Amino acid sequence: ASNGLIVSFGEMLIDFVPTVSGVSLAEAPGFLKAPGGAPANVAIAVARLGGSAAFVGKLGDDEFGLMLAGILKENGVSADGVNFDKGARTALAFVTLRADGEREFMFYRNPSADMLLTPDELNLQLIRSAKVFHYGSISLIVEPCRSAHLKAMEVAKDGGALLSYDPNLRLPLWASAEEAREQIMSIWDKADVIKVSDVELEFLTGSDKIDDESALSLWHPNLKLLLVTLGEKGCRYYTKNFRGSVDAYHVKAVDTTGAGDSFVGALLCKIVDDHAIIEDEPRLKEVLKYACACGAITTTKKGAIPALPTHSDVLTLLNA
Ligand code: ADP
Repeated sequence: ASNGLIVSFGEMLIDFVPTVSGVSLAEAPGFLKAPGGAPANVAIAVARLGGSAAFVGKLGDDEFGLMLAGILKENGVSADGVNFDKGARTALAFVTLRADGEREFMFYRNPSADMLLTPDELNLQLIRSAKVFHYGSISLIVEPCRSAHLKAMEVAKDGGALLSYDPNLRLPLWASAEEAREQIMSIWDKADVIKVSDVELEFLTGSDKIDDESALSLWHPNLKLLLVTLGEKGCRYYTKNFRGSVDAYHVKAVDTTGAGDSFVGALLCKIVDDHAIIEDEPRLKEVLKYACACGAITTTKKGAIPALPTHSDVLTLLNA
C-alpha cells in the first residue's frame, strides 16, 4: 500500500437518480441518492485501494453536507480540508438516461457551497503535505472557487506534489462550449499528469479524430504524462520519451459511472511514493494495467462509490 498523501480538490455532491430507468426527470416517480462528484470519487477510490487520501472542498451546512462528510469518513478519507458554508447548500445533480438515449441533467448550483470555497479557507498545512494533488473541479469557472483552486495548486506544487488534472467536462454547467474550452485550457499547462476521456479529447481538439496526433496536440512542455481513456478499449499513454496503449479487461459492464475516477485513483495510488515510475515504461504499463482493472471493476456495479474496488478485488481480476 502507498503511504504518501493524495489530496483531491473539488466538489462532492449528491446525484439523484430516478428509481426507474428510461424516463425523463419530470416523469421520475422517485429518486435514489448517489453520492458523487469526480474529485470525491477519486479520494474514495484511493482510500479503498489502501492509499492515504484527503478531500478538500466545501459542503453545505445541511443534511446533505453532513451525509457526504460521513461518507468520506466511513471510507477512511480525511475530511480535515472540508469546510461547511453557513448559507449556501450542498450541490445536487439530477441525472437520467431518457428512453430516447439522451442524458438529461439538472443541477442545484446557484450557487452551491462548493463554488464558494475561498482561498482563505484552505487548509494549507494539509495541502502542503500532499505528495500528489489531484484537481478537476467543475466549479473552476467561478469565483471565489477559481482563486481557491489556483492557490491550492500553487501551495501543493511548492510542497513538492505532483499535480494531476482531470477536466471532468460536464457541458451543461458551462454557458458555452467556448467558455468551457477556455477555462480548461487556462490551467492546462500547470499539470504534471493529465487524464482525458475520448469525449474530452474530441471536445478540446475540436476534431472527431482520436489518434496520437490529436492527443499530442494537447501536449505542453511541462507535462510528464498524458492519458486518454477509451472505455472498453482501455487507454493510451504519452510521455516525453514513449507512448503506447493498455487494453481494457473484459467485464460485463452495467454502469460506467466512476470508471474514469477509479482509473485515476488507482494510478495516483501507484505513483504517489515514486513519481519516477512515470518515466519507466515497463513499470508505468504495470500501473496502467492495474488502473484499467480498477476502471473495469467499477463498471460491473451500479453507481460510482459503491462500485470502487479494494486492492484485493483488483488482484482477483488481475489473476483471473
Ligand atoms: P471516463 O469515466 O472518464 O469516461 P472511461 O469510461 O474511459 O473513463 O474509463 C476509464 C477506464 O476504465 C478505461 O480506460 C478502461 O480501462 C476502464 N473501463 C471503462 N469502461 C469499461 C468497460 N465497458 N469495460 C472494461 N473496462 C472499462
